[in-house]
Amino acid sequence: MNDNDCLFCRIVAGEIPAETVHVTERTVAFRDINAQAPLHVLVVPKDHYADAAALAAGDPAASAELVTTAAAVAAAEGYDDYRLVLNTGAGAGQTVFHTHLHVLAGRPLTWPPG
Ligand code: 5GP
Ligand code: ZN
Repeated sequence: MNDNDCLFCRIVAGEIPAETVHVTERTVAFRDINAQAPLHVLVVPKDHYADAAALAAGDPAASAELVTTAAAVAAAEGYDDYRLVLNTGAGAGQTVFHTHLHVLAGRPLTWPPG
C-alpha cells in the first residue's frame, strides 16, 4: 500500500535517505530535514494514508503506534516534555500528504502555535 510518488513512502522504502531514529512494526521515525527544535522527528506509518483521520479510520493500531513511537523517541533522547503535531490539510500547514506526527522538544514551546 505504497505510493511511488509519495516522498514519505519513498523514505519508508529506503529509496530516499533519511536519518532514521526508530522503527517499529507499523511505523518509522526519522529526523525532519528542516528541524524547528533541537528534537524534531517525524513519525510515519509504513503504509500510505494521506492524513491522521484516514490513518485512524483505516488502521487504528498504526494510529496508536505513532504516539507510542513518538513517546519512545522523546524518552530515548532525554525529553520529558514534548509537543506532538498532526497538521491536517493545506490550510493547517500540511505539505506532505502521508500522515506524519511531528515530535518537537528541546526549546520553550509557546501556545497557541502560529
Ligand atoms: P507538514 O508541513 O506536512 O506538517 O510537514 C512536513 C515536514 O516534512 C516538514 O517539517 C519538512 O521539513 C519535512 N520534510 C520535507 N521533505 C523532507 C525530506 O525529504 N526529508 C525529511 N527528513 N523531512 C522532510
Ligand atoms: Zn506515502
